[in-house]
Order: sequence, then C-alpha cells, then structure tokens
Amino acid sequence: MFGHDQPGGSPFGPGGFQGVNISIDDLFGGGIESIFSQIFSGGGTRRRSRGTDLLVNHEIPFQTVFDGSDESIEIDVLKECEDCEGTGSPTSEGVKECPTCDGRGRIQRIEKAGFFTKQVVSDCSTCRGDGRIVSDPCGACNGEGRSKKTKQVTFTVPAGISSGTRLRMRGHGEAPRGAGGESGDLYIQIEVNQHPWFERDGADLLMALPVGFVELALGTQVIIPHPDGEDLRIKIPAGSNPGDTINLPGRGLPGGRRGRGSVTVLLKLDMPKKVSRSLRKSLDSLKDEIGTDFDKLEDSIRDEAQRRRRS
Ligand SMILES: [Zn+2]
Ligand SMILES: [Zn+2]
Repeated sequence: MFGHDQPGGSPFGPGGFQGVNISIDDLFGGGIESIFSQIFSGGGTRRRSRGTDLLVNHEIPFQTVFDGSDESIEIDVLKECEDCEGTGSPTSEGVKECPTCDGRGRIQRIEKAGFFTKQVVSDCSTCRGDGRIVSDPCGACNGEGRSKKTKQVTFTVPAGISSGTRLRMRGHGEAPRGAGGESGDLYIQIEVNQHPWFERDGADLLMALPVGFVELALGTQVIIPHPDGEDLRIKIPAGSNPGDTINLPGRGLPGGRRGRGSVTVLLKLDMPKKVSRSLRKSLDSLKDEIGTDFDKLEDSIRDEAQRRRRS
C-alpha cells in the first residue's frame, strides 16, 4: 500500500515530491467492503483490482491565491502496458487463471476456535493474490501488465486556496494489477509559498508596519504595492500608538465567507538604534513637552490598565 517508488526527474524540486501513497479508497472504498462482501457471500466474487492512489506536493506562489491558475505537472506513474494491454503476456495462452484459488486471488479456510468455527480469508500464495499466473511474460513489462510512464497532468487551482488542500483527480493514479480493474486517483496537495510580509488567517491578511514616532504623532499616509494589483493606502491617524491596528476591509484574499477578507495593519514604533549627538539635543529639548510626566505616572498607569481591560 505504501512505499511507492519516488518518480525520477521530479519537476517539484528537492523535497517537493514526497512519493507517499495514500490509499484512502483502498481502505474505506473498495478494500474493506470487498473483503466483507467476500466473507458474507462465501468468497464467490472475483476480486476487482484497483490501482494505488498517488499523492504529490505542488508549490504555488502566494499571488496564485489571489488570481487562481491553470497548472501543469509531470508525474511518473505506473500505467497499463501497451504491448500486452495490461494482461502481462503477449499471447492469450500466456496468462492462466490460478488453479489454487480459481482466479479469486483469495483462499478461504475454516478454523475451529473452541466451540466456534471461523472463516479465514487470506491472499493466495500461488499467485500472490493476483488470481492469475503468467507463464509467458510480456517483454516490455516483465508480466506485470504495467510500466512507468511520464504523464502530463493539468489542473486548475482555484483562487482562495490554502496550504494543505488536496485536489483529487479521479483515475490519474496507478493502473491496477492485471487487466480489467480501475486506476487509482491522483491527489495534488497544494503548498502556498509565504508572502514576504503578510501572515494569513483564512481570507484575512495581517501585516506589521514599522513607523517612526513622528509619523505616529502627526499621522501620515503610507502607500505600498498589493498583490491584488491596486496599491494599498494606509492612513495612519495623528496620535496613533504602537499596537494600534488599521483595518482595510475587502483587500484580503478571495474565498472568504463574506467575499474577500480584510487586511489588518499593526502599527509598530521603529526607534533609531543609535542616537546622534544632535538628535539627543533635539529630543532633550522636547522632554518637557512630550516626555513622561513622572508626577502623574501613577495616573497614566491606571488609565492605561483601564483602557486595556475595556478592550
Ligand atoms: Zn491463486
Ligand atoms: Zn506488457
């Protein structure tokens, strides 16, 4: 079930293709159900084989979450062998039904356990669960009925997609063993690359904006480029404090519950690392006006706590 070979020449870059197979359908679709139905119908049904599901990781730039895009990838996948049409042999006599299990691929035996008799179903050891024996194997696939092929897969990434989303492509997984089964599915797991400054919360975006004391005190307008194509105009009101937030509704990512999300800008105070002699002199002269009033310190501590607890 697991441990599928990692396809060579990965277009996903190092670590991009994990080469992990998941077989949700094997477990919860065909697998368990068909085992149960075999037990309850006395093992009479012929086992229908299904190819393994594949999982590939696919990175997309942050911009794609705004725009959506049509993507194309190449995968190496086990497909039905064209030389033998998946049977495993060039001749019809080269493939025989397994005599041990009559082509079922499974063996049933009755075991006694105390007062009870138990029906045990296991894979046939003669044909390794295949239900058939290849005496004249096809040269192209060594009797497997399948061979590795490079395949181009195109798919659409919808706008608003988040990291970890798996797009399912029915029938694009591995071909089944032997002719007549159905191919597995291909799952494409999307990884969204980080934006240089935005953090994401669903359709909402959060960023920090470092500005100086003067900009916080007097207010200003900051204009920065935005992935939606229209510049982001951030109005900082006069008398702003570090930690204040400015909300820009409708400028976040598409796909939110109420349309596009919002951009939240967190104001940060960017203090100079080094204070020059002349700056020190200027700041000193402002101390009386805008410095901390130590006579009223307790009052301002109390006020601040009150504001904080209210919000
Ligand atoms: Zn058999
Ligand atoms: Zn073949």
